[in-house]
Amino acid sequence: MSDYILVIDEGTTSTRAIAYDRTFSQVAVAQKEVALQYPADGWVEQSGADIWAHTLEVCRTVIAELGGADKVAAIGITNQRETTLVWDRATGEPIAPAIIWQDRRTADHCEALKAAGHESLVSDVTGLLLDPYFSGTKIGWLLDNVEGARGRAEAGELAFGTVDAYLIYRLTGGATHATDVTNASRTLLYRLGIEGAGGWSEEMLGLLNIPAGVLPEVRASSADYGVTDAALFGRAIPIFSAIGDQQAALFGQGCLGEGEAKITYGTGAFLVANTGKGRPVSAHRLLGTVGYETGRASAYGLEGSIFNAGTVIQWLRDELGLISDAAESERLASELESNGGVYFVPAFTGLGAPHWNAEARGQISGLTRGTRSAHIVRAGLEAVAYQTRELLEAFAADGAEVGLLRIDGGMAANDWLMQFVADICEVTVERPDYMEMTAMGAAGLAGLALGWCDEAGWAGRERAARRFEPAMEASERDGLLAGWSRAVRASVLV
Ligand code: ADP
Repeated sequence: MSDYILVIDEGTTSTRAIAYDRTFSQVAVAQKEVALQYPADGWVEQSGADIWAHTLEVCRTVIAELGGADKVAAIGITNQRETTLVWDRATGEPIAPAIIWQDRRTADHCEALKAAGHESLVSDVTGLLLDPYFSGTKIGWLLDNVEGARGRAEAGELAFGTVDAYLIYRLTGGATHATDVTNASRTLLYRLGIEGAGGWSEEMLGLLNIPAGVLPEVRASSADYGVTDAALFGRAIPIFSAIGDQQAALFGQGCLGEGEAKITYGTGAFLVANTGKGRPVSAHRLLGTVGYETGRASAYGLEGSIFNAGTVIQWLRDELGLISDAAESERLASELESNGGVYFVPAFTGLGAPHWNAEARGQISGLTRGTRSAHIVRAGLEAVAYQTRELLEAFAADGAEVGLLRIDGGMAANDWLMQFVADICEVTVERPDYMEMTAMGAAGLAGLALGWCDEAGWAGRERAARRFEPAMEASERDGLLAGWSRAVRASVLV
């Protein structure tokens, strides 16, 4: 009896396989790191061969633990978004390392397109901004810089895909070249739309000089992606879902209603709100994206990010040595009566929404002779909450008012921070007991295709969670927010 869904969660630093039973409880997991390479300033790469080999290995480990491939009803895939691969259709082998989403090598190309006045067209068509973060200019870079690639692409020999499409291609032995609509909506080549309104944009393909022949077919997030090559796991297993990681967390958290939102606090933080059937338009440089498409239900999403969240804690640990592990930040912050007037603006790589200032740099301010290391640690945690409030304000100004914020990711383990976010943002915070919401989202979407659940049941599913309610006095909050604004102004002036 096939009682399990096997989710492949291919993240930036590791790839994992997680098995879920029919009640969507996790029963097995295996994980393997995938190394990142930094071959030049601003370049971030990963070996496509490693992504594939390590993914196979973790899948095989979990399948063996379940008792064989017969136990697996379907596979679901969730992945780091925007990361770009171009491979040989005949062999499935990438022609160059994967260009990771963080890679800035196409910054000049984006600047030139902006200078030529193309950004408003790009936003109108794709919902995105002209930024090296997205896949479009990365594909162009590969075609122009790998010897012979453009000619081979035009001859139909090469295929492009984000990591979902690459894994699907390899898992199906080259039978399926397809991506899901959420991943497509991050490429800069997709006309933002749901329920048939979207599609590859000829205008964008022309602007970025990408031959249409390299593109995958676009399918719903819950859909039939073909079956795995029987030689890989001993049986042909259907692939029933694919979805980008942040949208997967939105779906996993059950945010299927308009106005429902989640934020994932990992290395950076990503806030995504379900905006229902209305295509989001932002006056604050937030991103319009596809939230999910199941075949029966769909929604747009509005997205904003905080560049530095968990990185602050890593920096306090690894560079300043003020904490020995991340969890210590909670103990130190909660021992203090107040922040002592200390603010930490972690603009290590500039500031995102709503400031959008790439030149801003970090600052720790308000130091006195009485400042202790705990104040600096606390200021680092507080910064996450202030930035979340700024994002929520930008969302509200764009018409996406968030009343309940669901939180997951590594930093969500910090109770003190969860309460402080609720206090500063004046919003109820809900943290699920089971925090692997990204993998859970891919499992739910595969579960829909298997008939193990339906959309209404998924949205209304009991999710054990802890709630944090805002409890801070308005005067205290106003004082803290004024202090933060002063600190941000100083960072922007650097
Ligand atoms: P990613 O998926 O981006 O690699 P994770 O979701 O695993 O990140 O989150 C890891 C981040 O969370 C790290 O930056 C770590 O410093 C931070 N973190 C983990 N536990 C805590 C904690 N108790 N308090 C604050 N930050 C934490």
